Amino acid sequence: MPTPQQLDRVLREVEAVGDQLVEFAATLVRIPTVNPPGDHYVECAGVIGQRLTALGFEVERIEATGRPEHTAAHPRVNVVGRREGRAARPLLHLNGHFDVVPAGEGWTVDPFAGLIRDGRLYGRGSADMKAGLAAAIYAADAVRRAGVDLTGSLEVSGTVDEESGGLAGVGWLAEHGRLAASRTDFVIIPEPFGVDRVCLGHRGAYWFDVVTHGRTAHGSMPFLGESAIDAMSRVLDAVRDELTPQLAERETAMPVVPDGARRPTINVNGVFGGQGDAAGQTPCVADRCRATFDRRFLIEEGFEATRAEVVALLERAASQAPAFRYELADRLVVHPVQTAADAPLVAAIEAAVTEVTGGSAARVASPGTYDQKHVARLAGVEQCVAYGPGALEMAHQPDEYCALDDLIAAAKVMALAIVRLVG
Ligand SMILES: [Zn+2]
Repeated sequence: MPTPQQLDRVLREVEAVGDQLVEFAATLVRIPTVNPPGDHYVECAGVIGQRLTALGFEVERIEATGRPEHTAAHPRVNVVGRREGRAARPLLHLNGHFDVVPAGEGWTVDPFAGLIRDGRLYGRGSADMKAGLAAAIYAADAVRRAGVDLTGSLEVSGTVDEESGGLAGVGWLAEHGRLAASRTDFVIIPEPFGVDRVCLGHRGAYWFDVVTHGRTAHGSMPFLGESAIDAMSRVLDAVRDELTPQLAERETAMPVVPDGARRPTINVNGVFGGQGDAAGQTPCVADRCRATFDRRFLIEEGFEATRAEVVALLERAASQAPAFRYELADRLVVHPVQTAADAPLVAAIEAAVTEVTGGSAARVASPGTYDQKHVARLAGVEQCVAYGPGALEMAHQPDEYCALDDLIAAAKVMALAIVRLVG
């Protein structure tokens, strides 16, 4: 067990490296690692690797060899720093993704300038999640500077492609045994859930396409054909009028935030039917229509029942219209994950939050998925949470920022958690 004096020293060391931490977070924001397509990954992995090396980590650069998105134009490069303690275990792995979504419209500041103003770091990726990654690195450094002799070991990784599913990032590390239950005990992902919230897991995601088929005919005599768009409208009506009210009656016991996401949801991402607009229009009945759906399901629902419900809905629509023909194709399935609330990892972070803020930490779960899915399901590590600075509402928004006070406070919490778990 760490002594109170040790913990005090660690907190003072976070303060001492605070300016470097802020400057490093800004440095990361200034590298426009926009995904898609995955720009500047080599440069960003290099900067993170150099910093880890300078701070005494053994650094490995890991390319996602074999992944189709790992191309000469856009190589997928991850970086892992390791600091060996007296023993290999327990091992705490801190992981942050360094890709960011495109800046989009509506900014009043340069999204890639790394502007620091009024106690905030602005820029795309400042909250989600370059501040968190920088905080993890400097939390580890503060522990070293405080002279804490680690009994276990520590890893910090910067990985790619979280915003596009993470298969070349954390997914690749997990699939190739670099991040595995056989060597890793705890994983903290500093996604921006805020200084006083620890995120235990996330809901599931099921993306699927429905294609409806019709029979084309001259648009002046539509009664001679069968419109695939009419068929799709049956599906859309059933989703809105039957499925959505059913979903609204279910509620998960997981502490998902915001409240509305305690219930399962479905969104129609897009509908594509009939002729495209590019070649102009001809008078034809649409013989094909496709819609893409995003169904977020609860841990209590499970995937099998979620999919069966969609099939039943389509079958009902088919039974009501003799000409109705459809195909259902799964695009993506992410199962819900949840770390046990009484896990030592959760206790360590909660205790650290109380020490740093004086208040208690709220346990939350995420409406959307993040790299925890790979840690839990591919790597098999049972104790994984998201904890990091910045506000979730800031993620993917114009004028995204992370408050510098939050950045320092989260680094303190992570540093204390490191000491508690592997110190
Ligand atoms: Zn993120």
